[in-house]
Amino acid sequence: MLASELYNRLKNIQMDNPLCTYSLERCERLLPLIDEIDALKKERNAIILAHSYVHPDILYTVADHVGDSYGLAMQAKETTADVIVFPAVRFMAETAKILNPEKTVLDPNPNGGCSLADSITAEDVYRLREEYPNHTFVCYINTTAAVKAACDICVTSSNVTAIIENLPNDKIYFLPDKLMGQNVQNALQGRKEIELYDGTCYVHEEFTREEVIALRKSHPNLSVLAHPECTQEVIQEADVVGSTSQIVEHVKSRADAKTPFLILTECGIASRLQVEHPELHLVGSCRMCRYMKSNSLELIRNSIRDSHRAIEIDPSIQQGAYDSLNAMFTITRALNPTTV
Ligand code: SF4
Repeated sequence: MLASELYNRLKNIQMDNPLCTYSLERCERLLPLIDEIDALKKERNAIILAHSYVHPDILYTVADHVGDSYGLAMQAKETTADVIVFPAVRFMAETAKILNPEKTVLDPNPNGGCSLADSITAEDVYRLREEYPNHTFVCYINTTAAVKAACDICVTSSNVTAIIENLPNDKIYFLPDKLMGQNVQNALQGRKEIELYDGTCYVHEEFTREEVIALRKSHPNLSVLAHPECTQEVIQEADVVGSTSQIVEHVKSRADAKTPFLILTECGIASRLQVEHPELHLVGSCRMCRYMKSNSLELIRNSIRDSHRAIEIDPSIQQGAYDSLNAMFTITRALNPTTV
């Protein structure tokens, strides 16, 4: 790849942060590192699965697949590569390792926390299970391997409502995302009795209904797309609610220069759309996830070169965590056989 080609891809990104602004000189500086990573990938038979929220200079250079947690979990399940490098956050790399215990999974990011995954431990789940012995425990994929192992089934933002609706038990304990749980409660209108934990995503909870209303006034045809980790007040104002992949697909299917879009999720999605559809009219402010944005090309290079930060799952929780994820794949396949 030439620096000018990379610059042509990234020059349309206009986020609030200088780290997400690309000049030709910056692209020239990145190229040697990109070439080094490409060579290391070939040498180690490695694949890079990158979440849409990481920096565009990862997404549009070394990444083999870009997507949300569900899509990347599926890629991890199907890959024939020996090494999976997962620039995202820790729980996602753990998920790849749970699905591929025989492969090397590298988590390049030493700062890959998540305000949801960090809000609950397996001990909390076992205590709650004693308190709610008749409930089916459903965990969002944004949880540690130990928490997944302590629950009955895992879900993602793209399938949470459909899975909870189709579980045989009407008593559900959903964790850890309180806001997503409230949105599921509203969508199911009392058809399930759902208890909620108290976690939140610190990025999505910041969006407010007042912001949406103000932007609708200044942009009369505004199309508002929101992630289900937002508050129920924001979700009620949205035209479309979906996972990051569902938001991207929706905008792409309606891509025209006339409709202004407000995308209420981490700003990596808006920057992806700016790269892939420069003609789009995107409005709104940038909310960054500091955990996702702490990934870098340097960390990826170091991780592959030195086989550094390989994920290990405690054997005592491997099977339980796998069962929780596999229950999700099984029910999703049954509900929508064309997508899984
Ligand atoms: S955006 Fe929120 S849910 Fe996603 S990794 Fe960051 S803190 Fe976690």
